[in-house]
Amino acid sequence: MSKAKFGMYWASSCGGCEISVLNIGDKILTVDEVFEVVFWPCIADFKYEEVRNYPDGYIDLCLFNGAIRNSENEEMAHLLRQKSKILVAFGSCAYEGCIPALSNLTIGQMNGAY
Ligand code: SF4
Repeated sequence: MSKAKFGMYWASSCGGCEISVLNIGDKILTVDEVFEVVFWPCIADFKYEEVRNYPDGYIDLCLFNGAIRNSENEEMAHLLRQKSKILVAFGSCAYEGCIPALSNLTIGQMNGAY
C-alpha cells in the first residue's frame, strides 16, 4: 500500500511550528509509517522545482506555517495550494499574521498611514 504524501513549508516563520511537529518525539516514526515526505525544506534538501513538477493535488496533506511577507512566500502559498489536496494554515502566523504581521504596522507608521 502506498503512503499518503506529506509536505510542510515555512514562510515567514520563527521555526517554532516545525519544532512543535518534531517535538512529538518517537511518534515521528508512526508518521513515517503513514506518510511519505515529499516536501519539507526544514528537514531535508527539497527544491521548489520538485514541487513545481508535481501534478496538481499530488501532496495529500501539506502544513503551511509562517506568514506571507514577501513574493516568495506568496508564490509558495499559491503553489502548495495547487499541489495539495489539503493545505492547512498551521500556527497563528499562517492564519492571522501573528508576530510577522506586526512589522506591517511599523511600515504603515513609517509611511504615515497611521
Ligand atoms: S505560529 Fe508563528 S510565532 Fe508561533 S511557532 Fe509558528 S511560526 Fe513561530
